[in-house]
Amino acid sequence: MRCILLKYGELILKGLNRNYFEKLLLNQIRNRLKPIGKFEVVSMQSTVYVTPVGNDCDDDMLIEPAFKAVGNIFGIVSLCIAYCAPKDMDSIIAVAKQYMPQEIRKYKSFKADAKRCDKKFPYTSVDIMKTVGGELNELCPEVKVDVVNPEITVMVEIRDRYAYIHAGSCEGAGGMPKSSSGKGLLLLSGGIDSPVAGFMMAKRGVDVQALHFESYPYTSERARNKVIELARKLCVYTDTMKFNIISLTEIQEAIRDNCDEEYFTLILRRFMMELAQRVAFRNKCASIITGESLGQVASQTMHALGVTGEGIRLPILRPLIAFDKEDIVKISRKIDTFETSVQPYEDCCTVFTPRHPKTRPEMEKIREQESRLDRQKLLDSAFETLNTMILERE
Ligand code: ATP
Ligand code: MG
Repeated sequence: MRCILLKYGELILKGLNRNYFEKLLLNQIRNRLKPIGKFEVVSMQSTVYVTPVGNDCDDDMLIEPAFKAVGNIFGIVSLCIAYCAPKDMDSIIAVAKQYMPQEIRKYKSFKADAKRCDKKFPYTSVDIMKTVGGELNELCPEVKVDVVNPEITVMVEIRDRYAYIHAGSCEGAGGMPKSSSGKGLLLLSGGIDSPVAGFMMAKRGVDVQALHFESYPYTSERARNKVIELARKLCVYTDTMKFNIISLTEIQEAIRDNCDEEYFTLILRRFMMELAQRVAFRNKCASIITGESLGQVASQTMHALGVTGEGIRLPILRPLIAFDKEDIVKISRKIDTFETSVQPYEDCCTVFTPRHPKTRPEMEKIREQESRLDRQKLLDSAFETLNTMILERE
């Protein structure tokens, strides 16, 4: 019989709140498994055990897809498919001899290791390690035993119900369980950075919603569809996503007609933040998330960021603030948003861009510029263009 073992990470540190985090994690695992089949999902000693029930348990049709489905759940640091053996030495040896040779023969060296979580088990870890290692070595003499730096480790874990035998774990998605950190509103553009920022906050347990600003006819339908595609790609991690769109056309035209060019971008970004805050309040989001990175462009100097967020009451989370572009690109490739992000469609931030933007703006000057506009009226009418859709995992 096979099962999936999932180990959690930081959750272990959660002390009294641990049950709460654990429950969220188990819910998420159960949700992901629902479309695949019937599984028992239980948690013991910082490990979640996923076992198929009511079917032939060795059924590849069930265990492999299940393994794939739980592979990117946040809150899990490592996972593996393990063979279950009754808790006696003969059975453990028999199962190891049946299933492990094909695994270790893929490598040049191996070792056996053991973990005895059930302290009543009559053999020590060293006994188990030596016995199982010796038997496997006899069966596969061509694979060298290397206890210091083996290419693969056969692990025997003696736990509550069974002994679990597996050949190495894969890395899990890490982070904190879905929904453990409240809701956040991601300002999602069509660029490389903001989808990565959304992914990173989702990884920390935030339920991410998106807000996209467009500026039709200066931005196109195709540009909007590109951003929707990016949001859909994030649904691989978030399952669903509320996607909000607001039109900035009127605001941008008012800025263009009344303000000095060097301030265009900053004034626009202040409008964006104000509108984001309204959308966040309406949706009970407790933070605003952006893909800003210090010094990346003129509007992301420390002074510019100060002006952008001035007067906003919600925390503005900027997970990429200290990231180099290269590192952001690496993550965007990993989460499969890069190819979509680099499609060259226009964004409202690139409409009416100043030739010489201010990098050390002063709040007083910004206020003077904004006094030329009917800010409240512009905000109210932009907010009326709010359009919402729910996106789902494909
Ligand atoms: P990205 O940062 O996503 O690669 P970008 O670098 O072109 O795109 P910037 O102009 O640097 O975007 O904007 C910084 C941040 O402001 C973005 O990461 C995003 O959070 C937000 N933002 C920019 N344009 C938009 C937009 N049209 N709609 C929503 N948010 C936006
Ligand atoms: Mg950027």
